Amino acid sequence: MKFAGPLNPYFESFLRLVYPSTCGVCERLLEIDEAGLCHACRDRLSALQRAYDKVSIDQKFDYVDDGWALFPYESPVREILTSLKFSRKRWLLKVFRDAVASWAGILAAETHYDALIPIPLDRERLIERQFNQSELIAGLIAKNTGISVEKSILRKRWKTPAQSQLSREARSTNLRYAFKAHADEKIRGKSFLLIDDILTTGSTVEEAAAVLKRHGAKRVDVFALASTQKGGKKK
Ligand SMILES: [Zn+2]
Repeated sequence: MKFAGPLNPYFESFLRLVYPSTCGVCERLLEIDEAGLCHACRDRLSALQRAYDKVSIDQKFDYVDDGWALFPYESPVREILTSLKFSRKRWLLKVFRDAVASWAGILAAETHYDALIPIPLDRERLIERQFNQSELIAGLIAKNTGISVEKSILRKRWKTPAQSQLSREARSTNLRYAFKAHADEKIRGKSFLLIDDILTTGSTVEEAAAVLKRHGAKRVDVFALASTQKGGKKK
């Protein structure tokens, strides 16, 4: 008797009857051929990405050289990222896999990066959430490009209040000196791609890029899964 290989479809149907799974956005019960999202929510996600594909972030940065976001921070992306972050449904990240893979391939062919650096969480928030979703996104990009993920270069210095609760000015001040860098020799003359989940004002990635530049980084770009910025331009 063989146990390896994909599940027998009858057995999988039986499992779905016993343990029904629901759409990560609208919570409707999933059909047998749906995974993670129902067809309707998946279609909305694809439409959102088609309209936003490879958009450079239309924002003036002092330290970030170039910025990219795959999706606008709108429904259903907003619901998916919220569930991912607060309900610990880390499997939901899979719904972005194809979009991230195709984008990462194009970018890696255009620009050389020495490493991917996920925006770090402070220890307390990491323990509370159990994982850093920027790190999971960096993992997806690494798998598709072969670029390594560097988690030790940039550290969060102290717990800062959640950025979403602060005004734009307070966000900047809140983050000043919030990051520290390790190992100058790993930074000097190198090019990095910072990875963040949601780009809002850009002050987090600016502060991280500033620290890396102070330690001699040659180039610091940023990739966010979603951006709240409007009016991006197609690359
Ligand atoms: Zn749905």
